[in-house]
Amino acid sequence: MSTLIIADHDLGVLSPATARVIHAVAELGPIEVLVLGQDTTAVAAEAAKLAGVTKVIVAHSAGTADGDVQVIETLAPRYTYLVQSAGSVGKDRMPRLAARLDLMPVTDIVGILGPTRFTRPIYAGNALQTVTDNQPQHILTIRASAFRAAAGGNDSPIEAIDVPVISAAKLIAQHRTESNTPDLATAQIVVGGGVALGYSENFKLIEQLAKKLGAAIGATRAAVDAGYAPNDWQVGQTGKIIAPDLYIAIGISGALQHLAGIQGAKKIVAINSDPEAPLVKLADVALIGDLFEIIPQLIAELEKAGVNR
Ligand SMILES: Cc1cc2nc3c(=O)[nH]c(=O)nc-3n(C[C@H](O)[C@H](O)[C@H](O)COP(=O)(O)OP(=O)(O)OC[C@H]3O[C@@H](n4cnc5c(N)ncnc54)[C@H](O)[C@@H]3O)c2cc1C
Repeated sequence: MSTLIIADHDLGVLSPATARVIHAVAELGPIEVLVLGQDTTAVAAEAAKLAGVTKVIVAHSAGTADGDVQVIETLAPRYTYLVQSAGSVGKDRMPRLAARLDLMPVTDIVGILGPTRFTRPIYAGNALQTVTDNQPQHILTIRASAFRAAAGGNDSPIEAIDVPVISAAKLIAQHRTESNTPDLATAQIVVGGGVALGYSENFKLIEQLAKKLGAAIGATRAAVDAGYAPNDWQVGQTGKIIAPDLYIAIGISGALQHLAGIQGAKKIVAINSDPEAPLVKLADVALIGDLFEIIPQLIAELEKAGVNR
């Protein structure tokens, strides 16, 4: 039994999610990593260092899920498990792959109980389901934040392959959101803002605090829908799943759909004027009061203490 993990990477950097996926499936057998992309030398070198990896395969990608899946499908007969993180790229590729191979994928895995038994959240994270997958091959997406990262120190071989693809789709252009803040999905600290901020201008307060702490910025769907924060900041059931060491939730009530995205947070600080808000009750520390008074005070205290990451 062997495993092919499809690496996540961006701008020439291997995503920390891949090291977590490698650790998650380490017990399932030997692991090879597929790096799909263009100019991926540095990414492949990073992947080759991760413990448990026996080989890194590099293949050209034209940047479409359609084409990428054809490459994975060509390699698929060699492997029992075909795995990627449950990030937006994995969510795009793996169900397509499953359809082409006529298999049912097991998605959003947060626990591996054995070669065919997996745990995954259902009902927006309100319950955990254990599933048995008795198919001859397994297509899995892993919720990376639920697992520790594989260690480094390895030196596995890197092999380049050439797989011709005929893609119906063509990548015309990519429009990126520029951001200097850490990636939400893997950040150690996240500062999240809710609709209580009132205006997009006021989100600058959240950004200032996040900058001081070296944190990523999150938002509720209500704040995103109101136009105060961009889409890719949304945390929750229909947004990103986060698992930081510290989540500072500012003016956020704690609706179930938001809580579905923050269950992996190790410590939660809630800043809210309502002591009865669900997130206040759930938080490890709650600061009750007006966010427009508390945040500037917090920033001033951090400045006094010389905290500036
Ligand atoms: C199908 C579906 C999917 C959804 N997916 C998501 C999702 O992925 N993520 C998500 O976040 N939501 C999601 N939602 C929306 C969710 O139900 C809530 O509406 C949303 O999370 C509420 O956002 P909020 O906490 O910013 O706003 P509110 O619930 O309005 O809470 C605002 C909070 O701010 C506090 N407050 C107000 N003024 C101040 C002040 N001056 N100082 C301090 N505190 C103050 C209030 O006490 C309140 O607790 C989804 C809903 C549906 C139906």
